Amino acid sequence: MHKAVDRWRRQISYLRISVTKRCNLKCAYCMPGDGGPIYPKGDILSIRQILRLAEAFAPMGIRKVRLTGGEPLMRKGIVALVDGLRAVGGIEEVAMTTNGVLLGRMMPALQAAGLSRVNVSLDTLRPERMRALAGHDFTEPVLNTIRAIAEKGEWPVKVNVVAIRGINDDEILDFARLAAELPVEVRFIEMMPTAHNRLWNGKTCLPSAEIERTIRERYELLPGPRGLSGGPAVVYGIAGGAGRVGFVSPLTKHFCGECNRMRLTAEGKLRACLFSDGEIDLKAGLDAGHEDDWFRQKFAEALGAKPERHALTPRSSAPCSRPMAAIGG
Ligand code: SAM
Ligand code: SF4
Repeated sequence: MHKAVDRWRRQISYLRISVTKRCNLKCAYCMPGDGGPIYPKGDILSIRQILRLAEAFAPMGIRKVRLTGGEPLMRKGIVALVDGLRAVGGIEEVAMTTNGVLLGRMMPALQAAGLSRVNVSLDTLRPERMRALAGHDFTEPVLNTIRAIAEKGEWPVKVNVVAIRGINDDEILDFARLAAELPVEVRFIEMMPTAHNRLWNGKTCLPSAEIERTIRERYELLPGPRGLSGGPAVVYGIAGGAGRVGFVSPLTKHFCGECNRMRLTAEGKLRACLFSDGEIDLKAGLDAGHEDDWFRQKFAEALGAKPERHALTPRSSAPCSRPMAAIGG
């Protein structure tokens, strides 16, 4: 049996699966604004095929799966997929990253299916700004859903905020207040130069250190457990507050040395690094009805090509060839 360890001795235990390339929003750092075609062509994997791959990879050491996209809640069969993944031996956690637009109404079914946790992406608390940034305003329903989950306390919830200079940098303290009021982890993420990023210009990436300084002027931050769920965020408690703030700094403090993830694109391509374009096609093997060993061999090949680290900086001009929505950000 191939074990999922790469050339740099990193144990890979986390698979991020993009379940759709479609989305009900058009975030300006993720999607093109003209509505033109953005994605590599190709049919996406069926729910059955995704489960088949999870079953093949779990014995190699995959313990955690995150469903993402595009918007995962737009994928037909998503609840059945969560349910099926929970039944795969060895997979201990099934998480999801969602923009939250459909989460309120789907929450009971997802909980019943065994979804372990959610990250909800919300970059602004201001309706007009969300309309400008993402094409529609869902600030109120998404916030209500975050509140409802946090207050129920059944799911740990993280709020992902992509921090963008000149766009939402004046809302850092508003988000910190949200984390002080609710038992949630608000995570500020440095924007990355992915394809179709209409906001990237080498100056708009807001380094985590700047955000942290702004927050410390108002709140006392307490050292928190690092990477609570094995993630890359540096996390702090807020003195006297209910929640936490976290910083994800792929550009100013890359965490490649601790990378434990592989990505499966919606069309069934295994991708070892967000910023390296090597991909291995698994869909053809699924269509041909190959055995588990074939897929494990392909997984090992993808691992062999996993780079030690990416070379991006906040001023990089060469973007990743794909949008996050196509890779499963
Ligand atoms: N649609 C879902 C959502 O927005 O949560 C899941 C897919 S989205 C691609 C996953 C995460 O990637 C979101 O938190 C989003 O904000 C983030 N993301 C997308 N493009 C990004 C970029 N260029 N830089 C940093 N984060 C990005
Ligand atoms: Fe859609 Fe998520 Fe991309 Fe925004 S970040 S356009 S919500 S896939």
